[in-house]
Amino acid sequence: MLDVSALRGVFGGTVLTRDDDGFEAARVLFNIAVETSPAVIARCTTAEDVRQALAFARRSGLPAAVRSGGHSVAGASLVQDGLVLDMRAMDSVTVAADARTAAVGGGATWGAVDRATQAYSVATTGGRVSTTGVGGLTLGGGSGWLERKFGLACDNLLSVDLVLADGREVTASETEHPDLFWALHGGGGNFGVATSFTFRLHRLPEFSIALLLWPHDEGEAVTRAYRDFVADAPDEIGGGLLYLTGPPEEFMPPHLVGQLCCAVLVTHAGPEAELRELAAPLLEADPKATVLTDIPYADLQCMLDDPPGFRNYWSAEYLMDLPDEAVRRFCASAYEMVYPSPSQHALWPWGGAVARAGDWPMRHRDVPWVVHPFGVWADPADDERARRWAHRLRDALQPWSTGATYLNFIGDEGADRVVAGFGAANYARLAQVKAEYDPDNVFNRWHNIVPATVRRDTVTRSG
Ligand SMILES: Cc1cc2nc3c(=O)[nH]c(=O)nc-3n(C[C@H](O)[C@H](O)[C@H](O)COP(=O)(O)OP(=O)(O)OC[C@H]3O[C@@H](n4cnc5c(N)ncnc54)[C@H](O)[C@@H]3O)c2cc1C
Repeated sequence: MLDVSALRGVFGGTVLTRDDDGFEAARVLFNIAVETSPAVIARCTTAEDVRQALAFARRSGLPAAVRSGGHSVAGASLVQDGLVLDMRAMDSVTVAADARTAAVGGGATWGAVDRATQAYSVATTGGRVSTTGVGGLTLGGGSGWLERKFGLACDNLLSVDLVLADGREVTASETEHPDLFWALHGGGGNFGVATSFTFRLHRLPEFSIALLLWPHDEGEAVTRAYRDFVADAPDEIGGGLLYLTGPPEEFMPPHLVGQLCCAVLVTHAGPEAELRELAAPLLEADPKATVLTDIPYADLQCMLDDPPGFRNYWSAEYLMDLPDEAVRRFCASAYEMVYPSPSQHALWPWGGAVARAGDWPMRHRDVPWVVHPFGVWADPADDERARRWAHRLRDALQPWSTGATYLNFIGDEGADRVVAGFGAANYARLAQVKAEYDPDNVFNRWHNIVPATVRRDTVTRSG
């Protein structure tokens, strides 16, 4: 029986074990199919708590995992019979409006950041929903509505405060531990526990959206039109195309509610009047539901929040091109998606500032498209069907794939996918950084970068 009294004695936050009230509520992730059960959940309130929890895990021989928003589809933020550093109480957001920076606690969600920055008409790129953790999303890259204008979330990092596996506290920035700072631009939770992030903010006084829906059988023509629209779109335009189940909203024609629909969301870092002109080719393509409006960015950010309490399986692929045959296969695949359900079948356009970023770990930043099957369902009997759907879509689009993908959009798809996500040269450089900052591979739950000093085929990750 594990004795956590020594940890409780020095810990400022709460320490939960399986017998404690609130343990199960603290354990459960966004993807409820993940049943991993840790021995201890340490709810950290300070960097000192993080140090103490890591030291306790080391002394007790417990594997460790780090949890913020709990959105890892593979359950990387839990570890079987190990210790979870739950960062959610470290959720402060401090905006320095004049300096255009925000200091964000390692366990904050994007909703908290967006609300705090909105008050000053500034923003930085976050994820597409408000409940995702800043920690996991940013360290893994960070794709969102503003990316074509301001880059990925990680591109806006000015510094990161971390506690390393050996308890050292370091700040990584362009001038301090620059090798570590480089690795934190997509290398994920492999290097330490981030207790605070400092982001660059941008002026965003006006923001608008066009949400357009068509019945599924018009999807192929809509997807072609959307592809052509994006090819000429300025960086202010973001968004994506999604197959989804028609939502029960006022703007929906009743016959499309609960039906498979093809939707386009066009986001615009500017006013509605400009968007109306820019999006004219789509507005003229006879959508059956149209919402065209100015909206505070922070409001859009929580408009599409996915419901928790479902089972999830996703995959993704970078596409070099989207010719008509790729469009046909993408659209055909929507019919295999588990629906009616919150599942989505997305095409995200990259380009703009995403492609212009410098020499960071993520490879293929210049791809024009990311395809992202996002399976969300309730019945465990559909588990296999959802998996097959995601994989068949990837297979169908292989002729246009780079063979790599954005790792935050996939679960555990094996070590080769991790290497491909960075490319062999960047992976080797990341492995060197890992050997310096986490030589014992303590942080191995997210897509694992194995320290250069360790042979990859000898590594067993904690469960
Ligand atoms: C509904 C939904 C929407 C999403 N939308 C987007 C999107 O728009 N854009 C996008 O890029 N991704 C998106 N994702 C994917 C998401 O970025 C990843 O799943 C990410 O890992 C989630 O981060 P988290 O903190 O919520 O997750 P967690 O499950 O809490 O953490 C995942 C991993 O991140 C690391 N980590 C988290 N916090 C810290 C920290 N403070 N210090 C060190 N390591 C840490 C750990 O290794 C951990 O295992 C979405 C996921 C979901 C479920």
